[in-house]
Amino acid sequence: MRIDKFLSNMGFGSRKEVKVLLKSKAVEVNGTVVRDPKIQVNEQSDKVEVNGEAVEYVEFIYLLMNKPAGVVSATEDNYDRTVIDLLKDEEKHFNPFPVGRLDKDTEGFLLLTNDGQLAHELLSPKKHVDKTYFAHIKGTVTDEDVAAFEKGVVLEDGYATKPGKLTVLKSGPISEIELTITEGKFHQVKRMFISVGKEVTYLKRLSMGPLSLDPALALGKYRHLTEDELELLK
Ligand code: URA
Repeated sequence: MRIDKFLSNMGFGSRKEVKVLLKSKAVEVNGTVVRDPKIQVNEQSDKVEVNGEAVEYVEFIYLLMNKPAGVVSATEDNYDRTVIDLLKDEEKHFNPFPVGRLDKDTEGFLLLTNDGQLAHELLSPKKHVDKTYFAHIKGTVTDEDVAAFEKGVVLEDGYATKPGKLTVLKSGPISEIELTITEGKFHQVKRMFISVGKEVTYLKRLSMGPLSLDPALALGKYRHLTEDELELLK
C-alpha cells in the first residue's frame, strides 16, 4: 500500500495532510526518510516511523460500547445523533459500524467494528447467537408468559419466534426480567411482550454471544475489545 494511504488509515490526517508530514521529513521507512507519498510499503514487514515513533498497521477495530438511550445505532442519520458520533476521531477514521441494531431508546451492549465478515457471522440467523436483555415490564410477568416464551410466541405479523428463555427477577406492577433470544427481528423483545399483552418500559442488552457488557463502562462510553474477547468471537 502507498505510504500516504498507510498513514492516513492510521490516523495521521487526510492524504493532503500526510503529504505535508512527508515533506517535513518526519516519516521513515526501515530507517530511511521518505518524502514521496507514492512509495509502497508492506504493512506487515516494513518498519514505519513518524517522528521516531513506530506505527503499527491495524486494519480492523472492535469496540464494545454501552449504548445510551437517545442515539441511533446507525452510521448516519438526518435527525438523530448516532453511536458513531460518540466515537473519537482516532476510532472514527476506521469507519466502524454497529453490529446489529438497538432501538433508539434501548441501552447497553453494542459492538462496533469495521470487520464486515465478523459482523456478518454474528448477525447470521444460521449462527443463533444468544442475546440477553434486561427489561422492565409494565404488569406482572407470569409463569404462563415464561412457558409461552419457552415455546416461542407469535408476533402481530404472524411470525413465530424461536424459543426464548425468560427469567423473572422481580414480579410486581413493574416487573424486572431477563430474556435470552437467538434472533434479532425488528423490535423483537418489545413485540414478544406485546404478544402476551405486556409493555416493555425499559430495555438494556446485557450480552451478545460470549461477550457481556463491561460494568466499568458508563453509558455512552466504549473500549477496545481485549485479545481474549476477540478470540472468543472468532
Ligand atoms: N428488541 C427490541 O425490542 N429492541 C431492541 O433494541 C433490541 C431487541
